[in-house]
Amino acid sequence: MKRLSIVAANWKMNGSLALVNSMVSELNNVTLNENVEVVVCPSSPYLAAFNAASASTNLSAAFSLGAQNFSEHNSGAFTGEVSASMLQEVGVSYIIVGHSERRSIYNESSALVAKKVKAALASGLKPILCIGESEEERAAEKTEVVLAEQLQPVIDEVGIENFKNVVIAYEPVWAIGTGKTASPEMAQETHQFIREFIAKFDENVADKLPLLYGGSVNAKNCEELFAQADIDGGLIGGASLKAEEFKIICSAAKGK
Ligand code: PEP
Repeated sequence: MKRLSIVAANWKMNGSLALVNSMVSELNNVTLNENVEVVVCPSSPYLAAFNAASASTNLSAAFSLGAQNFSEHNSGAFTGEVSASMLQEVGVSYIIVGHSERRSIYNESSALVAKKVKAALASGLKPILCIGESEEERAAEKTEVVLAEQLQPVIDEVGIENFKNVVIAYEPVWAIGTGKTASPEMAQETHQFIREFIAKFDENVADKLPLLYGGSVNAKNCEELFAQADIDGGLIGGASLKAEEFKIICSAAKGK
């Protein structure tokens, strides 16, 4: 097996301490295939609680903690911000960067996303770099151009060799939280494009890069999506808040 498969839970601004505790005990008895890692990304106030709750269980090494947002700066007069090094200190290993909600609601540009990826890597965190096209861009057959425009600034900022510590999540914007999922064939075709794009810079890096699909993944569609040759797991929003459904999704992932 050459590639790790990852199922990452993006709780967004949802959840509670009660959910942290119940999710940790539910995940404690999930069955995972070989070479699969599960990453839970709760809101920042719950990160330490998630770590504390998992320390008192047998939650295996296959589970990691992720965060949803952070500053591109390492420290200083940035009231309200949190740095990658602070997150690393409280046990975070992965960090979501460039989610479409941050790009559209908080105007995060691809140049800022690139700086955040650099800051995450400098603190030893693995960025889950989200890219994806809007409905209009897909209809105008601009998907590949948009994805290339989102990837290139990150490659320029951190260098392709550092993508060995990056995870890419392809999330078509029109599929996030809408119940509309890309068909497995459409998702595979786009994942293949992304892998080939990275391979133009470094084939070895591309071969090992976990490429996740995100956008209305659920217990019913996960198996077929994860069976595609270039889909190495998923970034899961709504369905990650329901323990039973999330466990089915985790168990469907397989290392490739
Ligand atoms: C997401 O927020 O990254 C996401 C994929 O959400 P959902 O699964 O709810 O579409």
